[in-house]
Amino acid sequence: MHCPFCNANETKVVDSRLVAEGQQVRRRRTCVNCNERFTTYEAAELLMPRLIKADGSRQPFDDDKLRAGIHRALEKRPVSIEEFEACISRIKHRLRATGERELPSRQVGEEVMSELSKLDEVAYVRFASVYRSFQDINEFKAEIERLSEEHQQEDA
Ligand SMILES: [Zn+2]
Repeated sequence: MHCPFCNANETKVVDSRLVAEGQQVRRRRTCVNCNERFTTYEAAELLMPRLIKADGSRQPFDDDKLRAGIHRALEKRPVSIEEFEACISRIKHRLRATGERELPSRQVGEEVMSELSKLDEVAYVRFASVYRSFQDINEFKAEIERLSEEHQQEDA
């Protein structure tokens, strides 16, 4: 992969190890050109189901979004990076294990809440309050869109 500092296309792997209960490979790399060091995480993403949003649209599973949501909930909480990664792995494992190619996006939220309830009570409450209100807004928006489409059809 390209160096994120100077964009040179030759980088060298200096260390490689399994993390997150073997679900990821962590690689330390060094740039052949500028000698900067950086870390990459590799995980198999092949079988993640697509998500069906409240309005019926489909979206690819977004690993960054999942991480960002959980990370925000865990801010300043006594939870290690290892626990965080293991939690992400378990959520993704369970979503894959459904064997479904598409899942309602709310199922991801439910899995996150179930994990956080076991991991850290404060993080759980934080996530649940944000997530619940977000779901309500999305459902409300979907409902408004549906109604306005019906009106347009009536007018036509
Ligand atoms: Zn470089």
